[in-house]
Amino acid sequence: DYLSRLRRAEPQLRSFLHVAEPEAMAAAEEVDRKVERGEEVGPLAGVVVSVKDNICTADMPSTGGSRILEGYRPAFDATAVRKMREAGAVVVGKTNLDEFGMGSTTEGSGFQVTANPWDVSRVPGGSSGGSAAAVSARQCVVSLGSDTGGSVRQPASFCGVVGMKPTYGRVSRYGLMAYASSLDVIGCFGSSVADTAIILSIISGHDRFDATSSKNVVPNYEEELVSLNYMEPKPLKGIRVGVIKETIGEGVNTEVASSIQAAASHLEQLGSVVSEVSMPSFSLGLPAYYILAASEASSNLSRYDGLRYGNQVAADELSDLYKESRANGFGPEVKRRILMGTYALSAGYYDAYYKRAQQVRTLVQKSFKDALDENDILISPAAPSAAYKMGEKTNDPLAMYAGDIMTVNVNLAGLPALVVPCGFVEGGNAGLPVGLQMIGSAFSEAKLLRIGHIFE
Ligand code: GLN
Repeated sequence: DYLSRLRRAEPQLRSFLHVAEPEAMAAAEEVDRKVERGEEVGPLAGVVVSVKDNICTADMPSTGGSRILEGYRPAFDATAVRKMREAGAVVVGKTNLDEFGMGSTTEGSGFQVTANPWDVSRVPGGSSGGSAAAVSARQCVVSLGSDTGGSVRQPASFCGVVGMKPTYGRVSRYGLMAYASSLDVIGCFGSSVADTAIILSIISGHDRFDATSSKNVVPNYEEELVSLNYMEPKPLKGIRVGVIKETIGEGVNTEVASSIQAAASHLEQLGSVVSEVSMPSFSLGLPAYYILAASEASSNLSRYDGLRYGNQVAADELSDLYKESRANGFGPEVKRRILMGTYALSAGYYDAYYKRAQQVRTLVQKSFKDALDENDILISPAAPSAAYKMGEKTNDPLAMYAGDIMTVNVNLAGLPALVVPCGFVEGGNAGLPVGLQMIGSAFSEAKLLRIGHIFE
């Protein structure tokens, strides 16, 4: 059923880089056989999932959206994928992304451009645009993505689905192609908060293959959802909600800002205490993020040398092999990031850029701590606008970067954030979805999911 819907939508959407039809059918039949024999099946038995193509899968290609990895097949499953498979999930394919996660529209894929299911002339957001479009168009039930600076949350908002960016370290990064290791997390998309909660419980937890993965106990997030009594008139009594002032003012689409205000009033009606919080360092996060992410990327991407993985351009000299393989394999945005990152890290500029950006990161962390001492959650839009037209920002990298203002600070602080659809703005045939971002303290995913559940 899912495969036929996937195939029907695919010519218009192009969400998938690889559809694993035989493998998916075999996995589904295996679940059927187990059920017939009365054997135990996992909590995701037969659930159709997709995986962003920068997350490794042993039986399918994993390109990271880059030509440099065309044809590469990893020898192992990422831990998050392994856990989903052990729970019975059927992996239906690999979803499109901006090359190595660098971008906000999925137009930066080395292979194809994905369309937004709400209006196919618009972008699905990025970099996990393929995953968001696939869940939105019901080409799969849930999808794994990655979020370094907003790549789960912003496409969730653009495509009208739920997107979860967990606390840094909540989910193992083993098998996720490194972009900026101090910011990268694997996250998930679902069409409901309940689906998202189920997946998060399965993929979370300590992993001996990722030293930064946390040993904190993993709650049953689905059970946690019903610990709020939604039948009461004021289920959110006592919850303090802070609206981040800097995220609803200048530079933000007015319809988007009013959807967020409406969501805040809704939370208030349900008993929470809503106030505005000012985070003066909020706008500093964006330049700091782009320095740090590019710096880490310039180092992480040095592994793509034409020898260890993927595509190789033959040359007589070893240095030419490196140069030609990289020049041919990487797209323009990746090259731009490597250049910026190498520059920021070079002797003589390090103090002015990298070190300063790290100092800003500390400031951002502190301002979140202060705001979250006073509030249980903070809210903002997930993006300053709804989905825009394809091509609108492709020639203006700075305008594209500016669109990440709502999300990057959360990664600098390593905090969890959940995006849920909260309204529509004009556009497309049926309006364009707007996502509400809810940010909490480290490891407060259960609280975010409980509150998010109210919006559905
Ligand atoms: N758009 C941001 C960037 O290009 C975030 C990407 C991400 O989260 N992977 O870096």
